[in-house]
Amino acid sequence: MKKISISQIKEVAQQAYEQVKGNTDGKNADYIPYLANIDKNLFGISICLLNGQKITIGDYNYRFGIESVSKVHTAILVLRQYGAQKILDMIGADATGLPFNSIIAILLENDHPSTPLVNAGAISACSMVQPVGEATQKWNAIVENITDLCGDAPQLIDELYKSESATNFNNRSIAWLLKNYNRIYDDPDMSLDLYTRQCSLGVTAEMLSVAAGTIANHGVNPVTNKQVFETELTPKITSMIASVGFYEHTGDWMYTSGIPAKTGVGGGVMGVLPGVMGISAFAPPLDGSGNSVKAQLAIKFIMNKLGLNIFNGEQVTVVE
Ligand code: GLN
Repeated sequence: MKKISISQIKEVAQQAYEQVKGNTDGKNADYIPYLANIDKNLFGISICLLNGQKITIGDYNYRFGIESVSKVHTAILVLRQYGAQKILDMIGADATGLPFNSIIAILLENDHPSTPLVNAGAISACSMVQPVGEATQKWNAIVENITDLCGDAPQLIDELYKSESATNFNNRSIAWLLKNYNRIYDDPDMSLDLYTRQCSLGVTAEMLSVAAGTIANHGVNPVTNKQVFETELTPKITSMIASVGFYEHTGDWMYTSGIPAKTGVGGGVMGVLPGVMGISAFAPPLDGSGNSVKAQLAIKFIMNKLGLNIFNGEQVTVVE
């Protein structure tokens, strides 16, 4: 049994912030015009412990585009609505080993879109959200689920939504290609629009750390104490994050950080250490695969310095 104290976690998180904040590597996503213009110096870290206590540093309260981190939330929603087996059958739970927006990945595995955590599977997941055929109710279900996971309501960044809707040609191709393979379970344009809108929701690093904390806490939001999803879904969602959260670099990420985490081109990363904590970091400049440079460095620093790793089989207790 390993014991770490809250003050140790605070100290290491502060060290990570100081060490990483001056890093100028990477650049903002520029294929979505809104994201190109976000202040590249923003940087925040938030950790949510399972007693609901939060450790927050820097720009933890800045609202940025959730982007692909939302894929985890909506995967949870369809897992709740359909159960684990149906998600495996209708979408899949496999790593693609390819970029998030890969069309080749669909062609290589045309019997399913691999996983809800890449664009294809996420659009497919949006098509599955119940009640099928009802765009407004589906949207409300998506937002309500994100609110429950974060313990706070996300807000649509209208400018981001417009910016992304005007430029999402690749995703339009994905939606219609999936339709060709019978892997879109509602209207393709409506499913794509729901996906684009959910990516344009504004959240903070603090909110994402609470959502990660909810997963780490087996479905119970540690801040609101609401049971958001069934306990038995926890390993399903965590295994999906672990296998594809960083797309083609997921193996390197897991090897060096020891924590399943999901990234978004808005600059957010959300990591889940089951039974211990949720963590999120946010900074807009990205590496070549669309993953925040500073968020990766900060989370890795914290995990390694605290000696935490999902693969070392150690039971960890956080003490006062
Ligand atoms: N909305 C973005 C897209 O579909 C999300 C991508 C990401 O965050 N990796 O291209």
